[in-house]
Order: sequence, then structure tokens, then C-alpha cells
Amino acid sequence: MKISFFDTKPYDRIFFDKFVGDYGFEIEYYEEKLNAHTAVFAKGSAVAVAFVNDTIDKECIAKLEEYGVGLVAMRCAGFNNVDVNAAAGKVKVVRVPAYSPYAVAEYTMGMLLTINRKLHKAYNRTREYNFNLNGLTGFDLHGKTIGVVGTGKIGRVFIDICRGFGMNVLAYDLYPVNDAPYEYVSFEHLCRNSDIISLHCPLTRQTYHMIDELAIGRMKDGVIILNTSRGALIDSEALLEALKEKKIAGAGLDVYEEEADFFYEDWSDTVIKDDILARLVNLPNVLVSSHQAFLTEEALSNIAETTLSNIKEYADGMPLTNEVTINA
Ligand code: NAD
Repeated sequence: MKISFFDTKPYDRIFFDKFVGDYGFEIEYYEEKLNAHTAVFAKGSAVAVAFVNDTIDKECIAKLEEYGVGLVAMRCAGFNNVDVNAAAGKVKVVRVPAYSPYAVAEYTMGMLLTINRKLHKAYNRTREYNFNLNGLTGFDLHGKTIGVVGTGKIGRVFIDICRGFGMNVLAYDLYPVNDAPYEYVSFEHLCRNSDIISLHCPLTRQTYHMIDELAIGRMKDGVIILNTSRGALIDSEALLEALKEKKIAGAGLDVYEEEADFFYEDWSDTVIKDDILARLVNLPNVLVSSHQAFLTEEALSNIAETTLSNIKEYADGMPLTNEVTINA
């Protein structure tokens, strides 16, 4: 069975090549992102493997169907970039619902420690033999309140880490966990009472721009915002304004709402045209990374193994354990 693999990076190949021999599939790797224009590369393949910043909209799905692709295998958990309604009855969609919640949760804590304790500044200073500490003061995380939005697999691991630091946890989720060792509150209460807010819910119509001017206005002065989930959970313009006004003291952003145009590529020789991203990247109290929270060896192994096993189920005509359906 032939598989067209889109948006390939060297680390993807290493882990898929390691396991594909066990399945006997033939993979054709393409660096291009999957969209309506590049779908033609999948002609003759039964499966298209895609990632977070591919555009699998109605037009792309129609092309994939026309070219004989029966399965879109997302090698990620989120599927907000797939038009699931358009796919229904045309191509099946599977994903990797969990590959390492630890990878993302640990990275989120890394971002918080960096922003709060200014590790990024210390690294740059000492490289120039500047051993001055002015401006590097942070605060103890112990005893502070962290608001966690979304208490699924990643959110719960992150909460465990925060509790290990002696932090108080306020949580908000549409579906609270029973007997949780932390308090569930309304989103408004979380905004009003948290020293740090970390987002771990999916991007849906309901969560789009949930951190907007109104939500920010309700937050404590000097709050830190962390987003390792999906960029469009935050209205970036409102975030930038609040950072300029010092309402928000710092932000750790592993995702950005217009990231598909930039992330995973080297633009270092180019003048970036997205003024909001350019400004955020340059603020001393903001850490922007390129959607890398998942990037551990364990996660990449699990992604490759689950994706290939999802494809095997499809090839064998078995029920698809990790199928994404309209109600998923
Ligand atoms: P999950 O499905 O286990 O948990 C998501 C939680 O969000 C669930 O408890 C759900 O009830 C809750 N939720 C849904 N809608 C909500 C709403 N409107 N308000 C509040 N809570 C809501 O997912 P997960 O594995 O924990 O992943 C969380 C998110 O992390 C994913 O959706 C994905 O966008 C992101 N992610 C990012 C990376 C990265 O590399 N940066 C990697 C993996 C996942």
C-alpha cells in the first residue's frame, strides 16, 4: 500500500522509516504541506499522512477523493485543520489522540520557568560575559495560583507538575473530572483569580479567541499566559496590547494563530510581514517557539507507531480505533 506523507521533516522520516518495515507499506515523503494544490502528489496513494498546519478543507478533500485517497492519517492529536463535515462519506480521517502528554506538559513548565526566571536573558547575557543580575528577578511559583483551561491528558499531567511545585490549581473544563484533587471553577473565576493561566483545551468554535480583550480585562495585573495548545485560542492583537500595557507580564507561546504561514520553516533571511508575530517575538517577556512542545523521542516514536497502526487497521478493513468523526 502506498502512502503519501506531507510536510515531512528529517525527524519524521527517522521515526517512520524505523517502524514502516514492520508494516510493509511504501512511503513517499513530500516536504510540501497538504492542501488543495498539493493533493495531486497523493494520486495513486491510498493514504495521505498530514500534520498540524496542513489545510485539509473541502476543496482538498474533494481532490483527495478524486485521486483515490481513502484515508487521511493525521500524525497529531488536533484535527481543527480538517473539515470533518466535508470528509464524511468521502475520506476517512484518523489521528493520534495521545502520544506523550508528558512531552507537552513538561515543555509548558519549561516555558513558565523561562519567562518567570528569565533564563532566556541569562543565557544571552553570560555568553557575552555579562554576569549582571539586574532585571532578572522572578517570583516563587510555590504558593501561586495557576489556572488550567482543559483538564484532559496534557492538562492533568501539567497540573501534577504544578502541584509538585506547591502551586494552587484552579481548573476549567466543559467536562470536569470526578474527585479531582484540585478545584473546578468557571472560566471567569479562573481569569480573575489566577497568577498564571495555561491553555490545554482544543481549538473549537467555542474556544476560538477565548482569551480576548474581555477575558484579559478580567485577569489579575501581571498575569503570565501560556499557550501550548492552539494559537487561535488567543486573540493575538488583544494579547499584544495587554503586553504593551503591562497588564500581562509575560507569555509563553508555542503556538500562534497564523503559524501555518511561518512555523517549521527558516525565515531568517526574510522580513516577516506579520507585524503581530514580529512584535511578539521581539518582546523581552515573551517566548515564542515553533510548535515544538511535542518534540521528544518518545512522542515521535508513539506518533509513528500509532499512525502506522491506524493505517494498518484501514488496510485490513478493520474498525478504525482512532477515527475522527463529526461528533468526535
Ligand atoms: P484532550 O482531548 O485529552 O483534553 C482536552 C480537554 O479540553 C478535555 O478535557 C475537554 O473536555 C476540554 N475542553 C474541550 N472543550 C473545552 C472548552 N470549550 N472549554 C474548556 N475545556 C474544554 O487533549 P490533550 O491531549 O490534553 O491536548 C490538549 C490540546 O493540546 C490539543 O487539543 C492540542 O491542540 C494541543 N497539543 C499541542 C501540542 C504541541 O506540540 N504544542 C501537542 C499535542 C497537543
